[in-house]
Amino acid sequence: MSNLQATENQKLQQEIVSIPRPARRPRDYQQIPLYKDVNLLDWEDWHWQIKNRICTKDALAQIIKLTPEEEEGIDKAKGRLSMAITPYWGMLLDPEDPNCPIRRQAVPMAQEFIVTPHEMIDPLAEDRDSPVPYLVHRYPDRVLLLATDHCAMYCRHCTRRRLVGEHEEKEANVSNRFDAAIEYIKSNRKVRDVLISGGDPLTLEDEELEDLIQKIRSISHVEFLRIGTRIPVTLPQRITEKLVNMLKKYSPIWMSIHFNHPKEITKRCKIACDMLAEAGIPLGSQTVLLKEINDRPYIMKKLVHELLQIRVRPYYIYQCDLVRGTQHFRTPVATGINIMEKLRGHTSGYAVPTYVIDAPGGGGKIPIAPNYILSQAKGKYVLRNYNGKIYTYLE
Ligand SMILES: *Cc1c(COP(=O)(O)O)cnc(C)c1O
Repeated sequence: MSNLQATENQKLQQEIVSIPRPARRPRDYQQIPLYKDVNLLDWEDWHWQIKNRICTKDALAQIIKLTPEEEEGIDKAKGRLSMAITPYWGMLLDPEDPNCPIRRQAVPMAQEFIVTPHEMIDPLAEDRDSPVPYLVHRYPDRVLLLATDHCAMYCRHCTRRRLVGEHEEKEANVSNRFDAAIEYIKSNRKVRDVLISGGDPLTLEDEELEDLIQKIRSISHVEFLRIGTRIPVTLPQRITEKLVNMLKKYSPIWMSIHFNHPKEITKRCKIACDMLAEAGIPLGSQTVLLKEINDRPYIMKKLVHELLQIRVRPYYIYQCDLVRGTQHFRTPVATGINIMEKLRGHTSGYAVPTYVIDAPGGGGKIPIAPNYILSQAKGKYVLRNYNGKIYTYLE
């Protein structure tokens, strides 16, 4: 190992040791005047959580000390990707620290309304690649179905902010909403994998979701179904016995869960993930690389280690898309490459996700990795390993 790498490693070790033990126990909600009369049965009821989401400045001010940037952000967000925070997530916010990673993901800030060059409304050109309503068909063998435009909580870095939010007109709540999408999948025998996302599909009622899953499952060439969600993180109460038993009937279903920071992995979240894992649903994580939230190697390492402990396999780290109003969240690509460098080889392979850029203009996910091939000629590969030693492979 070179001296430089040795000091890098030493620095990383020191960082890991010096992580302040975060108070992973959420605040006790009954200590907050707003919730002092709420009983635990209501608190644990996901419909109650949705109905009582924090959507106003006044309500939020009873939970945290708002900054002027946040107050301005909340005012401006109305009617766009408006603020909505589950009381559960509210208890994870640091009341004093505006840089709290949980807070920055949920509370709008004035910077969200600054549009910088290269930022787009639909950076992944999903609307262009949509053959029928609610469907995006980009890859030959799999499709993305946008089952709803609602989420339990609206992430301020949302890539589908053009679609997602609490809109005036409720989405058509008729059971034939997805007829064209289902027909499209039926008539495309190459589609073997359907990814149900949104919005967050787990905000649908059990019956609605089952109706959709059942229709997709009954298409014989669909081998594989997955759900993209953030509910186990933002509203773990939604993962009920009833939901899990329903999903179990349609096995195999895989689930990709959006996790960004170790602080999101609470006891309550673990219970939800345990229920899913025990129902035979393989769990993966999707993480958006976010400036000053999870852009340090030691934070990402802590996150992936804790994910493995709750049986979630790190799947993707996304470079933050070029979506309008997200510049304050975006890091250089080199930051992501450096994180991958500090993971691969230094920890369990299962803990290492793939870092991708979802290509602007609809090129799909492109893996970005440190370069381990130093030279390649005449059947000879000169490679470096994770700690800088050089090896030759002869073909
Ligand atoms: C991400 C994505 C998929 C799934 O991609 P995988 O790499 O298979 O997880 C499918 N369709 C679209 C449009 C996507 O954005």
